[in-house]
Amino acid sequence: MKKVALITGASRGIGRGIALTLAAQGYDIAGVATNPDSQNTESGLYETQARVEELGQTLCPIQGDVSNLDDHPRILAECLDAFGQVDVLVNNAGVSLAKRYDILETTPESYDRVMGINLRGAFFLTQTVANHLVENPRSDAAITPTIIFISSISATAASVNRAEYCISKMGMTMAARLYTIRLAEHGINVYEIQPGVIRSDMTKGVTEKYDHLIEDGLLLQKRWGTPEDVGKAALAFTEGYFDYATGAVIEVGGGFGIRRL
Ligand code: NAP
Repeated sequence: MKKVALITGASRGIGRGIALTLAAQGYDIAGVATNPDSQNTESGLYETQARVEELGQTLCPIQGDVSNLDDHPRILAECLDAFGQVDVLVNNAGVSLAKRYDILETTPESYDRVMGINLRGAFFLTQTVANHLVENPRSDAAITPTIIFISSISATAASVNRAEYCISKMGMTMAARLYTIRLAEHGINVYEIQPGVIRSDMTKGVTEKYDHLIEDGLLLQKRWGTPEDVGKAALAFTEGYFDYATGAVIEVGGGFGIRRL
């Protein structure tokens, strides 16, 4: 039986990497981005769609802004219209600060933007999808509905010039934990992936900084992570390799989190 993954932020970076990894294993994808342009198949959501089709699967492109809660029912409805089901939700869409501010100077606008997309958006989209999954239980026992939160190593590592980002990611950790507890009785598994330093548009502007930090030993595995590294972890969860480990949190960060003396 084919599985369907609803992935926010599938137009680029980690979300695209997860979409392609899952599609390579036979998943259909409902991919969400804020501004998909059907004329552009070189980059963006329609490029991901073309790659998914090369893999023999279907990607349904969905325009949506996760920070706009009014979009959530339509996002789910478009996924169900296209495929008749949703088996996996990946809360991946996220932003860093438009401009880095010290915690003593950051603004309510910056705080609200980052929290609205990264945390509020993921929290309420999960609520919408979870309610659908609870109300429409799958008869196929081989499929465990799965929700994945893409948080960050910033859920635990504090950066005072990105306070709202760190708070949003730590909030995702608690959101994942709460949904894990609430949804267990419905046979829905919830997981959290904490990516480390991953090459994407988000980290483009800090390439040199992280090149140096990696060279100087920031990570045990001395290389940048890739969106596919995160995709493989997501696939392990969606394929049931962690079936008896709902609530699992995994860092995909080249050993970043191991404390050393
Ligand atoms: P990215 O390359 O900047 O891509 C961000 C994705 O999120 C894009 O597909 C973007 O779609 C989408 N998005 C942004 N705002 C949205 C909104 N309001 N509604 C719907 N979609 C929206 O970033 P990335 O590096 O792949 O990051 C993906 C996730 O991983 C984020 O949650 C990020 O915090 C997390 N993460 C990244 C790293 C890293 O090192 N890169 C590390 C840890 C965690 P559009 O095309 O519409 O802009």
